[in-house]
Amino acid sequence: MAARTTPETPHPDTLLANGMGVHDADTYGVIPAIHPATTFLRAGDLSYPAGYSYARPINPTFTAAEQLLCTLEGGAEALLFSSGMSAATALFQTLSPGDHVIAPQVMYWALRRWLRGFAAQWGLAVDFVDMTDADAVRAAVRTGSTRILWVETPANPTWCITDLTAMAEIAHGVGAILAVDNTVPTPLLTRPIEFGADIVMHSATKYLNGHSDVLAGALVTAREDERWAKVRAVRADHGGIPGPFEAWLLLRGMRTMGLRVERASSTAMAIARHFANHPGVAEVLYPGLESHSGHAVAARQMRGGFSGMLSIRIAGGEQASIDVAAALEIWTRATSLGGVESLVEHRRSVEGADSPCPPDLLRMSCGIEHPGDLIADLEQALEKVRA
Ligand code: PLP
Repeated sequence: MAARTTPETPHPDTLLANGMGVHDADTYGVIPAIHPATTFLRAGDLSYPAGYSYARPINPTFTAAEQLLCTLEGGAEALLFSSGMSAATALFQTLSPGDHVIAPQVMYWALRRWLRGFAAQWGLAVDFVDMTDADAVRAAVRTGSTRILWVETPANPTWCITDLTAMAEIAHGVGAILAVDNTVPTPLLTRPIEFGADIVMHSATKYLNGHSDVLAGALVTAREDERWAKVRAVRADHGGIPGPFEAWLLLRGMRTMGLRVERASSTAMAIARHFANHPGVAEVLYPGLESHSGHAVAARQMRGGFSGMLSIRIAGGEQASIDVAAALEIWTRATSLGGVESLVEHRRSVEGADSPCPPDLLRMSCGIEHPGDLIADLEQALEKVRA
């Protein structure tokens, strides 16, 4: 990516590569140390000399990754969690019985399932709305009781696009906050706070770490306020934090995110273009294609690419799509996304029959292999199934 910043405000790629410039203060090692301590020395006057007391509220190994993510998102503070789900659910756990939430019909399926269960048990009202339709969202919000408008864009697994500016306006108009799952675009492609979001959420398990070997999550706030204080308390009380080794691995993974996201996005675009009119393919779902219904909005709120995620609907239906996935030799059949290896998944069989996911859809997470090999592998699998 071309540099567009000055030495005072370095490009995100530079911030990432330097990992906030954190070194080991004792050895001058160029990478930070891991702090496994769960408890910290107290001085005779009962103070904590370094500000750390106990590991459930905070661990010093987190700090660099939190500050780096906070800077990338343009937020006021970031908190790491033990998973994306634990980050997202911490926000909803700040709500009270009787509060109302709006969530998208198309979203990460396990959070949709959790919201249904939590809402029933906790006394929340949750409406799942088509978030590509601002009028539908406007009609669904309730002044005085809607507290959170939850958005995912591009949204799993059809990659439909939600207009963040419009959602922020609707949420703020009724006194609610806009919270955005920014896992797929990463702050390199979209910075939701710039469009009015109040909270940004990440499954750091995906692109932030990038190597399919850390489970972690994060929330970033646009400002420190009462709700954020409650989020901090939920984390401190529940202890939903990553271990020091995971936090350290996360920072190590983040240092290469600039290169990984750039490559994954350009590969996804190449695959989308290649298969857009392929006889073995019913439809390519990728917001980078001009034919995608959310392309204009995506082009406005994403920069530098449209993410490494796309889906392909296979001509011939559900069994044909399962057979194509089975015939792939370079793509890895596995759930998840955002790693260096390209992953493919028959998504309906994961999400179940009540999902909006079409049964003929293969979800593809582009890694950093050579794009020509990934295209050739898909070509041979499609050919095998059509023969
Ligand atoms: N949000 C999105 C978009 C995801 O894809 C996932 C996981 O697949 C999550 C949230 C949940 O994250 P985690 O698995 O780290 O709990």
